[in-house]
Amino acid sequence: MISIKNLEFRYRNKELFNNLNIEIEDKKITSIIGKNGSGKSTLVKILIGLYRYNGNITIDGVSLLKDTIKEIRKKIGVVFTNPDNQFVAETVMDDIAFTLENMNYKKDDIRKKIEEVTKYLGIYDILEANPHDLNSNQKQLVSLASALVHEPKVLILDEALTMLDPYDKEKILKILKELNNQGLTIINISHDIEDTMISDKIYVLDEGKIILEGTKEEVYKEEKLLHKLGFDLPFMVELSNRLMFYDLIEQPIYEMEKMVDVLWK
Ligand code: ADP
Repeated sequence: MISIKNLEFRYRNKELFNNLNIEIEDKKITSIIGKNGSGKSTLVKILIGLYRYNGNITIDGVSLLKDTIKEIRKKIGVVFTNPDNQFVAETVMDDIAFTLENMNYKKDDIRKKIEEVTKYLGIYDILEANPHDLNSNQKQLVSLASALVHEPKVLILDEALTMLDPYDKEKILKILKELNNQGLTIINISHDIEDTMISDKIYVLDEGKIILEGTKEEVYKEEKLLHKLGFDLPFMVELSNRLMFYDLIEQPIYEMEKMVDVLWK
């Protein structure tokens, strides 16, 4: 769905990416994690067409170039860390409409699309509220609605789960998993390894380079390397490893409910 080949990018006095290669598979959840300064935000800015780069990036078969950026923006939706910085209107309705107005949707279609997406996300009853007055979970759902309302093929989460408390995070992760099951490709960019638990594939970025890539199982096996890069294993992985050491479980279990079930028996 997204192919990044031989990406080169430098800030005036600093080379950040040199021959960076990333393949984001269609209909999968891919996480890209890295500590502060590893290049995550720069990568997002490149993908949404804010920075010029050298190399080849294609999104859904279209080369990411100045001339194609409008076409590409229709294919992607982005949710950032802090929704407050993204709200542009005084009501949730107008805020979500903004994306569609920019894409020249007709008034009737705008109304219909907003109704659909907000009903799906459970925020239909707050369409007249001021987005700034909402709680953090609702705010992030409004951002998600704005990112999804034009039915993109790819959703990019730029540290979008970071500010949520564990309860809200759990709820949003469930929605994301469901959207993914319906065919949405998701790129989850984060500094927190806990956020990788829902991914099919993980890339670990450090100082502009991919140091580790693979499935969850492959990446979580590299505990030493992860430590060196500043990451502890996710809680459920650590717990699974310890319980396996004492022969209390036979294989890793990453979902808490499942873990409780198995241990209870
Ligand atoms: P992350 O999002 O992973 O924290 P960034 O993409 O923000 O990483 O930064 C990667 C590197 O590029 C860092 O060393 C940072 O100092 C540098 N950098 C980021 N933005 C700029 C900029 N506007 N000008 C110069 N250097 C920058």
